[in-house]
This record gives sequence, structure tokens and C-alpha cells, in this order.
Amino acid sequence: MVAILEEKLKRIRKEERETLSKIDRRNKKRAIKCQSCTTTHRIADIILIQTHFYVQPHGCTGGDYWLPGEIQFVCPQTNMVNRLLFDNDNVPWEKRENYENDPQQQFKRTYGHLFREVVDVNKGEESERKWVNNYYLDNHREEFGLVAKRKRD
Ligand SMILES: [Zn+2]
Repeated sequence: MVAILEEKLKRIRKEERETLSKIDRRNKKRAIKCQSCTTTHRIADIILIQTHFYVQPHGCTGGDYWLPGEIQFVCPQTNMVNRLLFDNDNVPWEKRENYENDPQQQFKRTYGHLFREVVDVNKGEESERKWVNNYYLDNHREEFGLVAKRKRD
């Protein structure tokens, strides 16, 4: 009996791995509309930039540290930075840190490893590139499997 159950578990795990890899292959091909060159770029073709901002030392025990900030990508055609922004205006301040309310965290967990490359950049060490705001992901949350926007009361 044990062997049968273990065989079953092995099959289920194998199926899970294969399904996850199919999802990844599909997601890699998803494209983000560029605000710089007006075409779209496939996730697999562009580099994701994760920015970090500095938090000053605080209190008597708290040292300084860096926190992840916004995410960006660089248009391969114009070399301009697209800031991938999300509008969280309707989520109460104290609930914004929760994963289930955070579309950026959700996007990174599902798509982060599918970009051509991920580059970490600290605030103050950014390149001198020009930038544009890009709300494409925010406006297509459902398509990307991200939490829906809260309706205004
Ligand atoms: Zn572009």
C-alpha cells in the first residue's frame, strides 16, 4: 500500500513540475506595452531592474538597510527606462505590505525569473537614462494573474 501511495505522489509531483514549466513557457511570451517605443516587448527579451532605496539607521538597535522599491525595464530600442508602476490608492496604508494586496510582489514571484536578466540597482546609483511611467501591468492585472484593483468606495 505504501509503495502505491508513494508511486502516486511521485506521479503528482512530476505532473506539477511539468505544469509549472508549461506555465513558465507561456508566461515568458507575455508582452508589456512599451511607453517609449510604442511596440510591446516580450518578458523573455528584456531586462528587469529592481531598484532599492536606503533606510537610515533608527532607534538604538536599528541599523541602516536597503528596501526593494519599484521595478523597471529598459526598452531595447530606445534605451529608455519604463517605470512599472502600480496604483495602490484604494488599499488602506496598513494593508499595502500584505502579499495578497501587493501586485508588484505577485508579478515578481510569477514573472521575475522569466526575464532575460534581473539587475539590482540602488537609489543614487541609477544610470542617467531618461524614463517614462508605465502603468501597463496595472491596467492589465487580470491578464497577468495579479490582484484586482479595489473599487473606490
Ligand atoms: Zn520599447
